[in-house]
Amino acid sequence: MFTIDELFYGSVEQKRANAHKIFKDMESGLANLPKIKEKLADIIILSEALNRQMAAMTMFSLCASCGQKKGGGCCSAYMSNETDSILLLINLLLGVNVKRQRDDAFECCYLGNKGCTLLVKPMFCLNYNCRWILTGNSPEVIVELEKAASAVLRTQYGLEQILLVEIEKNNEKNNV
Ligand code: SF4
Ligand code: SF4
Repeated sequence: MFTIDELFYGSVEQKRANAHKIFKDMESGLANLPKIKEKLADIIILSEALNRQMAAMTMFSLCASCGQKKGGGCCSAYMSNETDSILLLINLLLGVNVKRQRDDAFECCYLGNKGCTLLVKPMFCLNYNCRWILTGNSPEVIVELEKAASAVLRTQYGLEQILLVEIEKNNEKNNV
């Protein structure tokens, strides 16, 4: 049984442990629900569209070279707190092996050698456009980026609400 506080406001380690526990206990029940299957498929399609937009703006190479500079990159350890149990559960349902990638106190624990290892990312990670991105692109291109990111986030939010209901039903079942 999980409370909202435990799912959303625990430590990074607790939230990851919660996600793995829910996945272990409920995986087949969740993955077989048509409304969840549909949202997961939508997230993949919309994330691919967002990736295409980011690639067209050369954001991946920009961020890779920025991250290699001293003090560069914005995937800090602080940002790893933006992940919550439901977001990590969605990643598990999408086949992502959600685990700590590093043990330093500086970078986000989900930052791997080739960038973020999560398929579904926190809202702040998708909404953050630094000055390099903002000044290197026209306002029209930034609008396209924001539209693509919003579409992903809206679908993530919808799936999160469905998952919370199913987790609550499971809590009630286990309390009977
Ligand atoms: S978003 Fe901006 S600050 Fe963050 S890694 Fe990319 S270029 Fe650097
Ligand atoms: S984009 Fe990924 S690696 Fe970077 S801060 Fe967000 S979750 Fe962490």
